[in-house]
Amino acid sequence: MVGVSDHTERRYAQGLDDADVLAGFRDRVVIADPEQIYLDGNSLGRLPATTATRLQAAVTGDWGRGLVGSWQGWVEQATRVGDLIGTELLGAAAGEVAVSDSTSVNLYKLAAAALGAHPDRRVIVTDDDNFPTDRYVLAGLAEQRGCELRVVHSDIDGGLDSDDLSAAIDDDVALVTLSHVAYRSGARIDLAACGELAHAHGALVLWDLSHSAGSVSVELSATGADLAVGCTYKYLCAGPGAPAFLYVRSDLQAALRQPIWGWFGQSAQFEMGAGYDPHPSIRRFGVGTPSVLATYAVEEGARLIAEAGVDRLAAKGAALTTLAIELADEWLAPLGLRVVTPRDPGRRGAHITLQHPAAWQICQALVHDGVVADYRTPQRLRLGPAPLYTRFVDVYDAIVRLRELVASGRHARYDAEPTRVT
Ligand SMILES: *Cc1c(COP(=O)(O)O)cnc(C)c1O
Repeated sequence: MVGVSDHTERRYAQGLDDADVLAGFRDRVVIADPEQIYLDGNSLGRLPATTATRLQAAVTGDWGRGLVGSWQGWVEQATRVGDLIGTELLGAAAGEVAVSDSTSVNLYKLAAAALGAHPDRRVIVTDDDNFPTDRYVLAGLAEQRGCELRVVHSDIDGGLDSDDLSAAIDDDVALVTLSHVAYRSGARIDLAACGELAHAHGALVLWDLSHSAGSVSVELSATGADLAVGCTYKYLCAGPGAPAFLYVRSDLQAALRQPIWGWFGQSAQFEMGAGYDPHPSIRRFGVGTPSVLATYAVEEGARLIAEAGVDRLAAKGAALTTLAIELADEWLAPLGLRVVTPRDPGRRGAHITLQHPAAWQICQALVHDGVVADYRTPQRLRLGPAPLYTRFVDVYDAIVRLRELVASGRHARYDAEPTRVT
């Protein structure tokens, strides 16, 4: 397949691109500056080429001309796009996923619903390296309900150890909630194995798929998942602030009550009834009027990911990060930049993380040199080569530039104090 066997030669990366079945998808997203290497698709995915025209049509046609009559279609949008995400990207059945609110709000709704399903159980289990909003939402919920938040220690690079998780779960646990792929190191946990640990004690599991949806394979039905949430603006390319998704396994839906009783969760919404009577389906997890325009962008991004195919994206993500790790070991480790992401591709997502005491300064200098990466405290530089549109030569060129930069010491001229957004 590949003509050159030495991965330190650029022709090796070029050979991988020539053999890449997804290579054509690069033309399906907007590349405004072809000189720039964008390795931050895990924070904000690129703009799909069709999204601007779809939004334009939605604004002038559906809104401008159709006015309120367009609600006949819009009212189904959250579940229609949810079905696309669920069936094509998450291994779920139709009727199990809806687009709504933000990931933070969806996490709150589903975690509260899980507590309500087990009134005799008072414990939520999570880990101390979970994404900040997840930890804050859960801490707030636990305080409001007088529950215990049991926080398992997780290695910030290697991820959660299953023995530590197992030791934290007993018959008082109502809910175990974790991120599938760790936002900082990219460490990935085993959905099926962790789910079994929770289920063995009768607890529900709630996954945060923000860093895995659209980049690694997620099999919610096959792994017995109960609940899940995730972002659409990372690998799903739906744009800043686009609404998130939530998943509730179909047989749990009727029994779960979410805490925000809004009219978009009501069974006969337009009867405007006196009392709240939640719809029996996934619709009961809706709250207020959804973000219709932004959901058109979610649909465009999800369609593109579905067309590329999650399995092919996952395979390419593993290959891109493998190349990055091989080159980093060869060229960056001698300069003090150490790969901290798990080396087994089955145990990581689609980004890699490098540790260096001056990671923030290196990150600023790298962006200045035309390679967009990001910094995460403490001392970590993330490289996120989104498999939909990143080439192997992009990874190669980025690491060459990083080597040249750190060897020259130019990063020392940059401010050591992080800015508000990193
Ligand atoms: C990005 C991310 C979020 C973001 O949540 P918002 O409510 O969209 O701000 C939450 N959880 C994880 C794991 C993330 O990676």
